[in-house]
Amino acid sequence: MEYNAFKNIPKCNLHTHTNLCDGNNTPEEIVLAAISEKMETLGFSGHSYVHFDLDCCMTRQQTVQYKNEITRLKKEYADRLNILLGLEQDYYADDPAVGYDYLIGSVHYLPANGSWFAVDLSREELLRAANAYYGGNIYRLLQHYYETLADVVEKTGCDMIGHFDLISKFNADGTLFDETDPRYRVPAFEALEYLLKKDVVFEINTGAISRGYCSTPYPAAPFLRFIAEHGGRVTISSDAHDKTNLLYGFSEAMEYARAAGVKALCVMTKDGWKTVAN
Ligand SMILES: [Zn+2]
Ligand SMILES: [Zn+2]
Repeated sequence: MEYNAFKNIPKCNLHTHTNLCDGNNTPEEIVLAAISEKMETLGFSGHSYVHFDLDCCMTRQQTVQYKNEITRLKKEYADRLNILLGLEQDYYADDPAVGYDYLIGSVHYLPANGSWFAVDLSREELLRAANAYYGGNIYRLLQHYYETLADVVEKTGCDMIGHFDLISKFNADGTLFDETDPRYRVPAFEALEYLLKKDVVFEINTGAISRGYCSTPYPAAPFLRFIAEHGGRVTISSDAHDKTNLLYGFSEAMEYARAAGVKALCVMTKDGWKTVAN
């Protein structure tokens, strides 16, 4: 893969999963991969503990292990890589996130009938949930998603908004719902407008491309354009579940962002967020 697009932009990814949640590699394997990619900053963002989905998230015990291991790696590799201990804090995480360098706030689940369903599991699961809990009207489910997401900063205290329109993951072919329908656009833009007033960074997330679900990153172009027009801050991240994907699709994402009017990108450095020209 070609990374010429970086030019003077420091290589940084803040959305990284390890084998302590649903990623493929140990934290140290990922650190070594980041060093060989000549990355400046690597942020780990394990999935916060949610008691109802142990397939994807870290258990409480794994969370302790995760914190200890990333803290150890930070020290051990301090001269070669800026390592950050982050967390992808779900809206319905069981525990508050304490002691992290930064938080990504994400909505992966919605509550229904005293339980939760995952919005990013499969197309079938979304259809099942729409039928079971929203009277067969998927637009009501979509509205529920964006109403929940609008509240993610208050709920989690996050620094970054994770995959803004994750709910469109299985709609690449447009057959699940119409992304131009006001019943989708109105709640989505309302959430965006609300979140733009907060001190948060939106991520351009290439994860669903690397896993073959989508051909463009989150957020979709109309949302990204709106963020750019309203002076929202953005960063590119890969939502990597494998050490080979740490910078997956970044060049294309920069191009995509440029086309949406994004003139500056936020990059995390040793001294905190830095804004670089895109
Ligand atoms: Zn996520
Ligand atoms: Zn993630």
